[in-house]
Amino acid sequence: MSVENKYSVLFEPVKIGPVTARNRFYQVPHCNGMGHQRPQAEAAMRGIKAEGGWAVVSNQETEIHPTSDLTPFAEGRLWDARDIPGLRLMTDAVHEKGSLAAVELVHNGSHSQNLYSRAPILAPSDYSVDGALPKQARMMDKEDIRNLRRWHREAAIRARDAGFDVIYVYAGHNMTLAQHFMLPHMNQRMDEYGGSLENRLRLTRELLEETREAVGDTCGVAFRFAVDEMLGSDGMQAREEGRAVVELLAELPDLWDVNVSEWANDSMTTRFQPQDGYQNDYISFVKQVTTKPVVGVGRITSPDMMVSMVTKGIVDFIGAARPSIADPFLPNKIQQGRVDEIRECIGCNICVAADSQIAPIRCTQNPTMGEEWRRGWHPEIISPKISEAEVLVVGAGPAGLECAMQLARRGYDVTLAEASSEAGGRVAAESALPGLGAWKRVVDYRMNDLTQRANARLFMQSQLSADDVLELGIPHVFLATGTHWRADGIGRATHRTPPVLDGSVQVFSAEDIMAGQGPQTGPVLIYDDDHGYIAGVLAEKLAAQGLSVIFATPETMVSHFTHLTLEQHRVQARLIDMGVDLRLSQVLGGIADGQVQLNCAYTGRSHSVPCAAAVLVSERVRETALHEALKGQGLSTLDLIGDAANPGFIADAVFAGHLAARSFERDPAAIEADWFRRETPSLHSQGG
Ligand code: ADP
Ligand code: SF4
Repeated sequence: MSVENKYSVLFEPVKIGPVTARNRFYQVPHCNGMGHQRPQAEAAMRGIKAEGGWAVVSNQETEIHPTSDLTPFAEGRLWDARDIPGLRLMTDAVHEKGSLAAVELVHNGSHSQNLYSRAPILAPSDYSVDGALPKQARMMDKEDIRNLRRWHREAAIRARDAGFDVIYVYAGHNMTLAQHFMLPHMNQRMDEYGGSLENRLRLTRELLEETREAVGDTCGVAFRFAVDEMLGSDGMQAREEGRAVVELLAELPDLWDVNVSEWANDSMTTRFQPQDGYQNDYISFVKQVTTKPVVGVGRITSPDMMVSMVTKGIVDFIGAARPSIADPFLPNKIQQGRVDEIRECIGCNICVAADSQIAPIRCTQNPTMGEEWRRGWHPEIISPKISEAEVLVVGAGPAGLECAMQLARRGYDVTLAEASSEAGGRVAAESALPGLGAWKRVVDYRMNDLTQRANARLFMQSQLSADDVLELGIPHVFLATGTHWRADGIGRATHRTPPVLDGSVQVFSAEDIMAGQGPQTGPVLIYDDDHGYIAGVLAEKLAAQGLSVIFATPETMVSHFTHLTLEQHRVQARLIDMGVDLRLSQVLGGIADGQVQLNCAYTGRSHSVPCAAAVLVSERVRETALHEALKGQGLSTLDLIGDAANPGFIADAVFAGHLAARSFERDPAAIEADWFRRETPSLHSQGG
C-alpha cells in the first residue's frame, strides 16, 4: 500500500459545527509560558504549527475575567476588549496557513489565586485554594453564578471578535470551575447546582448552551472534559459518572475534547507511562455515546497508531500537545511520506517545566520551540552556508549531534568525532536507566539525519587530543565534550564544608552506576544534591537489583526538580514502594569508619548510617582540557558548547548545539547586539 493510501484517512476534513478542519490533526490547548505576556512569541509559535499541517491550532487556558487571574503564570487572557489585539495576532498567524484557531476559555475558580486582580476567589463551596496557601475560596451565590455565565458569554463574543473559529467550554485538569461544580467532593451545594449529577452539570450545560447561543452560528463550540480523575472510586471514573456526563451532554457541543485529569495524569512522562496512546482505554467509549467529533490525546507520535485510532472509531481527530511541540511539522511529514523524519516527543516534560517556571516554552527534541518569533527560528528551515568552510565537531552527545546535524543541513562539510563506540553521550547512558528508554529518540532522530548526509562524516571510537585536532587541519572547531559526575559529594549544600571521605566505604559516581559498575552488596547510600531525576533513577536501578538503598538529600523531598515535570509524587512513591529508606533534609557531613554522617539541614544535628557503599550525586565537572589545549593554536574559530560550557538539561545541550550552528559565520558583533527580540510592556494606558 502506498504511503498516501496508508495514511490518507488522517487527511480527511472533519466538520466542527459551522467550521471545517482540513484534516484530522488537532493541536489541543497547551500552556507555553508566553501567553498574554508574550503574545507575538505565542502567535508565531502557533503559526508554525498551522504551517506544519495541524488543521486546528488551539491556544491555552484563557482567563475570562479578573476573578480568574492566574498571575504569575503567563496563560491566555481575555478579560475585556483590550486583550483582543494580542489574541488576534495568533488567529491571523493560524489563518494565514489555512488552519482553524481555537481558544480555551476558562474560569479557574479556586485554582486561581487572583494575585494581580485581588478579586474574590470563587468556588461551588467554601474550601481552600489550590497549593499550600492559607487562603480559601468562597461559595458562589446565585448572583455570582449569573455573573459567571455572563462573563463566559461575553468572553465568547470577544473570542469570536478576535478571530477564533472554535470556542471552548473547559472542564478538566481539576483546574476549572465547570469541573469543580461537577465533582461531589468540591460541590457540596444544596441548591439546584448541587446534589444530583444533573444538578452538578447544570452550570456546564448553561455555559455550553449560552456559548452556542452567543457565537455558535459562526464558531464551533468545543467541550474539553476529563472523563476520569484516575483516583478509582475516590474520583470521577470514565465507566461511571464520566460516561454519564457524556450521555447527558452528548449532542450539546460541536466537539468533544476528552482526556484524564489532573494535569500530571494527562501529561504523563514516559518514565511513568511508556505507552503512547495511553488514554485510549479511558476515552474510547465517548464516540459510542455522541455523534459529534471526538479528539483525544496520549503522546501519540506513530502514524500507524493514529490510523488505527481513527479506523477503530476511538477518535475523529488526533489530538496532540507534546508531539506537536517536539515536531510542529508532524502532519506534513506524514502526508509527504517522510515518517522517519518525525522528531518524536520523548515524554520528558521539560516543556511543562518551563511553563511552570513562567518562562517561554522549550523542548528537548525541538530547539526552535519558543524561538520562532524572538530568534526567527523555523523548525525545518535553516539558512544555507555562506562559505566553503570546513567544520569539526568533537563529541556526539546531544550538543555535538545537534550542532553537526544543523551545520550539515546548512551545507557545510562536517566531521564529527566521538570517543565512544556509541553516539549520544549522556543520552546514551541515561536512556539505559529504568523508564528513560524513550529518551534515545534524541539520538536516533539526529543520527538518522546525519548518516544520510554526504557532507557529514562520523568517526566513532575517536578520542581526539589537541594534536589530533590540529593534525586534521580543519579550521573551525566546536567542542561538545560534555561533563563527568564528581564523586566527592561537593555540591551546593557542602561548598562551605566539603565532606571528608576516609575511604572506609566504597564511593561510586553516577556514571559508575550507569555503566553497570556499581556496588554488588548493600546497604548503599545515595546522596542527592543535584535534585534532578538522576539520583532518583539510580536509586530505582539499585533497588531493582535487590540492594538495600538509603536515599539522602538536603531537600525536603526526593528529586525536587521533578515536581516541575509533574513527576515528583510518582518518583517519591516509587522509591517508597521499592523499600528505599528516605532521609530528607540531610546534608552530607562525611564518611568515616564505614558510616555516612548526615547533618540535619535545619539544626545541624548529626546521625550516622552504616553502609557498604555510597553513590554521591552532586555536581558535574566540565570536560574543558581539550578546549584549554587548543586555545591560541591558530584555529580560525574554537567554540566550547553544551554541557562542557554550562552543565544543564539535555534540552539545554540541544539548544546550545543548535544556536552554535545557526550562529556559525554570523558577525559576532551582530549576535552581541541582538541576542533576541523582546516583548516590552506597552506604556499605552486605556481608560486612563
Ligand atoms: P553534551 O550534553 O554537551 O552533548 P555529553 O556529555 O552528552 O555532552 O557528550 C559529550 C560527548 O563527547 C561524549 O559522548 C564523549 O564521549 C565525547 N567526548 C569527550 N571528549 C572527547 C574527545 N576528546 N574526543 C572525542 N569525543 C569526546
Ligand atoms: Fe516532548 Fe520533552 Fe519536548 Fe515536552 S520537552 S514536547 S515532553 S520532548
